[in-house]
Amino acid sequence: NTFAEIDLGEALNQNIRRCKYVKPTPVQRNAIPIILAGRDLMACAQTGSGKTAAFCFPIISGIMREQYVQRPRGPRTVYHLLLSLPYKGTLMPEIAMSRWFAYYSENLVFDADFHVLRELERGVDVLVATPGRLVDLLERARVSLQMIRYLALDEADRMLDMGFEPQIRKIVEQMDMPPPGRRQTMLFSATFPKEIQRLASDFLSNYIFLAV
Ligand code: AMP
Repeated sequence: NTFAEIDLGEALNQNIRRCKYVKPTPVQRNAIPIILAGRDLMACAQTGSGKTAAFCFPIISGIMREQYVQRPRGPRTVYHLLLSLPYKGTLMPEIAMSRWFAYYSENLVFDADFHVLRELERGVDVLVATPGRLVDLLERARVSLQMIRYLALDEADRMLDMGFEPQIRKIVEQMDMPPPGRRQTMLFSATFPKEIQRLASDFLSNYIFLAV
């Protein structure tokens, strides 16, 4: 079982080898093909399982397949959103991941907790954001989520424990306007209590459930 057997494209596979990832972890082996096939996903996976790469690799793969060409952007428009919890002390794992694996990603992947207002004004391909910061940007009309085609929500159970449910719902509501294409949504959570089941049925459509 190798990454080469998963259709991530040669450029990304080369970087995966370079970064000494020898084989996909169970969550990666199972989740990546589901995401590449365009399906919504509810995944129960712990920190340390390799879940960050599971939802970042499909985006990075798309970026690298387009050979680093910047996609057309609309003002304040975001196409891929990775919602994550505040990460203290170091780079958010999603940002670190895209820096390691996607060449030129600094022009494509932005961290909403840093000074991105100028980039947002032009529109960004991938935004990594915490719920509180993103709601702040939405309230100031600095960002539009109407064109989101890929949403990954990491550590959903911890987000709810920390009281972010209203913010998360507010964010996802912004995406429920008539989209040109269907939004693909991934929900990652270590546990699957009824609050998370409710989020899954509200945010996902016809989803695949994965527990590793
Ligand atoms: P995560 O569960 O996303 O927090 O990842 C835990 C750690 O595992 C991170 O430091 C990753 O860099 C590392 N990692 C993820 N996938 C692999 C893999 N396939 N092979 C080796 N290390 C990995």
